[in-house]
Amino acid sequence: MKKITVIGAGLTGLTIAYLLRDKGYEVTVLEKDSKVGGAIQTHVANGYVFEEGPNTGVVSNPEVAELFDMLGLKIEEANRNAEKRLILKNGRWHPLPSGAVSFLKTPLFSAADKAKMMFEPFQKKGADPDESVASLAARRIGQSFVDYAVNPFISGIYAGDPEKLVTRYALPKLYRLEQDYGSFIKGSIQKSKIKKTARDLKATRKVFSVAGGLGGLIYALQNGVGAQNIVCDITDVSINKNGDEGYCVAYHRNGRQVLYKSDVVITTVGAYVLPEILPFISLEDMDAITDLRYAKIVQVAVGVKKNVLNNRFCSFGGLIPQKENRRLLGVLFPSYCFSQRVPEDCSVLAVYMGGIRHPEIFDWSDERLKKTVEAELSDLFGINERGIDFIHIFRHRHAIPQYEKSSGKRFEAINKIEEENKGLIVAGNLRNGIGMADRIKQAFDIVASF
Ligand SMILES: Cc1cc2nc3c(=O)[nH]c(=O)nc-3n(C[C@H](O)[C@H](O)[C@H](O)COP(=O)(O)OP(=O)(O)OC[C@H]3O[C@@H](n4cnc5c(N)ncnc54)[C@H](O)[C@@H]3O)c2cc1C
Repeated sequence: MKKITVIGAGLTGLTIAYLLRDKGYEVTVLEKDSKVGGAIQTHVANGYVFEEGPNTGVVSNPEVAELFDMLGLKIEEANRNAEKRLILKNGRWHPLPSGAVSFLKTPLFSAADKAKMMFEPFQKKGADPDESVASLAARRIGQSFVDYAVNPFISGIYAGDPEKLVTRYALPKLYRLEQDYGSFIKGSIQKSKIKKTARDLKATRKVFSVAGGLGGLIYALQNGVGAQNIVCDITDVSINKNGDEGYCVAYHRNGRQVLYKSDVVITTVGAYVLPEILPFISLEDMDAITDLRYAKIVQVAVGVKKNVLNNRFCSFGGLIPQKENRRLLGVLFPSYCFSQRVPEDCSVLAVYMGGIRHPEIFDWSDERLKKTVEAELSDLFGINERGIDFIHIFRHRHAIPQYEKSSGKRFEAINKIEEENKGLIVAGNLRNGIGMADRIKQAFDIVASF
């Protein structure tokens, strides 16, 4: 039986380790932090539950439902009204249209673009494989759609710039709709007619969390892997080839060096960490990987001593287009989406700042961030500074990898490295998608090959 080492105890690493343990493999997970979970950390204080990283995922593939089933964990689906998303235009919130009538009525898009949308099925297919998300949407629908739908949507997912993200890497399903069916509308209609298998139907596209926060998923995975198989607080982990017989793993813990042999090594860390972990990889291949740019995000959890999510704001949250020129990227309403997250009649908000749009905000002092959040929440939602119970600031230096033009070379380099070094797998969000559902699917795909 092979001995397998997984580096990183975030969602990817823990899911891979859990699935491998389920198949009977001997697995050791190495983690530099004192706690597991990586980007996913749930906090509980004074009756409030709030997240440090992701607030929700989407059940966009069957593997998400299957993982929850295997763990015996229940998916907590968001309140049905949480399907509503708000977009800010000229300082006022408007719901993103969800059907033909609301699309025609919305003030978010110009009349010309609404008319152009009718002709979307007849537009020519794009020929540039590296076309950006903004260019594709402007070509097929129009600039007001880019400004008031694509821009805030990309900000909400990637904290990124739609002019820089390449559609076939960043939104591969959208890219395929145009390439395979010639149109988003025609493609969506034709795909909806394809008969779904029982497994396909597990991908409900519902927004999910776990009762008590996403930390519950991490806790269940940690238990499934077994605490004795996870080594935290390690430093200086590095892998070297052990001739033709797998790898030699070295790390430090409590001032002592630990060395052992491993048949398989799976990394799940960010691109910027790989050079120190894999010193035997050529500079050329490594450069193609470390070229990956990350968006820095400041996430601020705000507890409010009132239920401020009244009729106007009953939704998943609000996204702010770049054109609105504000300091915030958007605000989510987790206590509206999920139950038992706040003391009675209170609210908790997740405020996002920085991203590719405003990288400088990452270095602002806590005091400046706090004052900005207070001023923006007062302006955008009428939340009075005295109504705020607490503000917690979380900084994520390497929050979201940007699947830009360099991605093609990165994927090629990873494939080449894996081809040349049998038993080495480079996983994590540097490829195969950035969301939690993508991380879970990648883990299933990797473990299926064992
Ligand atoms: C602010 C924020 C908001 C997000 N919002 C959403 C959302 O709403 N929906 C969604 O689906 N996704 C969201 N995501 C993305 C989602 O959180 C990630 O896709 C997922 O958690 C990444 O898991 P991972 O295991 O691949 O990486 P990570 O969580 O980064 O885990 C990598 C692990 O490797 C460890 N590590 C690093 N270096 C070393 C080393 N040298 N030695 C040993 N260990 C090391 C790290 O400490 C970490 O624990 C968000 C991410 C962030 C940061």
